[in-house]
Amino acid sequence: MKLSARADKLRPSATLAITAKAKALKAEGIDIVGFGAGEPDFDTPENIKEEAVRAIKEGFTKYTAVGGIDELKNAIIHRLKEDYGLKYEKSEITVSCGAKHTLYNLSQVLFEEEDEVIIPSPYWVSYPEQITLAGGTPIIIETEEENGFKIDLDKLKKLLTPKTKALILNYPSNPTGATYGEDELREIANVAMNSGLLIISDEIYDKILYDGLTHTPVATLGEDVKKSTILVNGVSKSYSMTGWRIGFAAGDKGIIGAMNNLQGQSTSNPVSISQKAAIEAFQGPQDEVKRMSKEFERRKNYIVKRLNEIPDFRCFNPQGAFYAFPNISKFFGRKYNGKEIRNSLDFTEFLLEEAKVAVVPGAEFGSDNHIRISYATSMEEIKKGVDRIEKAVEKLK
Ligand code: PMP
Ligand code: GLU
Repeated sequence: MKLSARADKLRPSATLAITAKAKALKAEGIDIVGFGAGEPDFDTPENIKEEAVRAIKEGFTKYTAVGGIDELKNAIIHRLKEDYGLKYEKSEITVSCGAKHTLYNLSQVLFEEEDEVIIPSPYWVSYPEQITLAGGTPIIIETEEENGFKIDLDKLKKLLTPKTKALILNYPSNPTGATYGEDELREIANVAMNSGLLIISDEIYDKILYDGLTHTPVATLGEDVKKSTILVNGVSKSYSMTGWRIGFAAGDKGIIGAMNNLQGQSTSNPVSISQKAAIEAFQGPQDEVKRMSKEFERRKNYIVKRLNEIPDFRCFNPQGAFYAFPNISKFFGRKYNGKEIRNSLDFTEFLLEEAKVAVVPGAEFGSDNHIRISYATSMEEIKKGVDRIEKAVEKLK
């Protein structure tokens, strides 16, 4: 059967593909260290699970309002107000089946042919694909490791055209771990406001920050910025709830209404049971969130130090999220078993074959000089994986 041109162009999610490959190799009995998945290894906190069990027992197992039940919207409103002083109405919130779905819906209701959307690179794999799928054009703005992977304002201004409709921000960033302080955000927001851009702010890693840093949602920078921002977040990373599939958007009523219409014709409501669990996540005690973030920090300190001790590895110190993004370009041109390492994909294949370690090639995130290592796994696995990488690269001549 001939597929639609849309489906033909679509690339599989590299992050999910590598994770699946590592799992399949493990199932074959091969001892793989999986650094692919961007998924916390912690169990979902008990109080959250209990609410889901209660929901099942009480028969809360039917269709709900398409964009989520009011009680959940209120819990989200409560969290945003308590954490950041942000005020939203229920009509400004919609809940979808994970933040990935939220972002997909946003692309579908906002972008069409002629629309340009600016994405800072390195970027999370799904942004360009989702925009292309909607018919829009992703415009990549490169950021440099030397500048902490931050947007250069002059570069940004040069990329603006009358067709530019939106700017995607993701901080703390997947894959670099870089984040923005309030002053930096203000400068970026000023450029966006002066050009009438919408800001799509993916803040899914807002609770995973290191070295005493605090998170500032761009929407807190003033009423005008808030009006032009759609804030995206969810429960996957902060509450270790990747499988529950709850994400949300907060912002302009018109956009939220269109997302609800789209959802009503596609998935309908997010899972009723997960919605009840998410209420507990947002409204219940937040100690587990802090505990998990502290543990990620301990792992980050260990892995970044170890990676930087490997000759010719250079690893940026992440400020948040749970990924190390080392530069491995010094290995390009070297060989193993007669095969030359030419790019991040070759290096990733080398690590899988020689070290039995699964990572994601930087090329998938728009940067071929890097690999992404997720340290959302146990300290034991991290130690084992880094030891293996260290030993394997000695073979590269
Ligand atoms: N944004 C970023 C930057 C991510 O890394 C992820 C991870 N999957 C998501 C959005 C989507 O998260 P989810 O769909 O699990 O809520
Ligand atoms: N966001 C995670 C990652 O980047 C999970 C996989 C995905 O949804 O892409 O690995």
